[in-house]
Amino acid sequence: MQFDYDDQNIFAKILRGEIPNNTVFESDHALAFRDINPQAPVHVLVIPKGPYMTLDHFARDASADEQVGFMAAVAEVCRLEGVEPGFRAVANAREDGVQDVPHYHLHILAGRNLGPMLAR
Ligand code: AMP
Repeated sequence: MQFDYDDQNIFAKILRGEIPNNTVFESDHALAFRDINPQAPVHVLVIPKGPYMTLDHFARDASADEQVGFMAAVAEVCRLEGVEPGFRAVANAREDGVQDVPHYHLHILAGRNLGPMLAR
């Protein structure tokens, strides 16, 4: 599979500081910020700092340090946001996954019962 990363996507602009964001956590390898259109009381997006389009792109091509750093950021977001009662992590990819922004991001949703996983 060929991945052609578009560095004009909105999350690339956020990473370059061209667009503001509501940061929850930042490290060398990841940035976590609040979704602009939250679907739950907690709705945080965790993104790698490298140019990866989707979860499968990141899992295939990111270095071990990038992958460990990303997952450490997920753990930190879960700790900071108090998701003990539960949460959902969602990664949409490409057309059928209805991905809007072509920079890999993990949605962390929490703060209420999230109901069935998919609308029917
Ligand atoms: P997806 O459909 O998985 O690509 O999700 C993209 C998410 O990015 C949506 O939930 C949007 O609400 C969110 N989003 C788009 N622009 C911004 C922004 N500037 N700051 C924060 N979240 C954003």
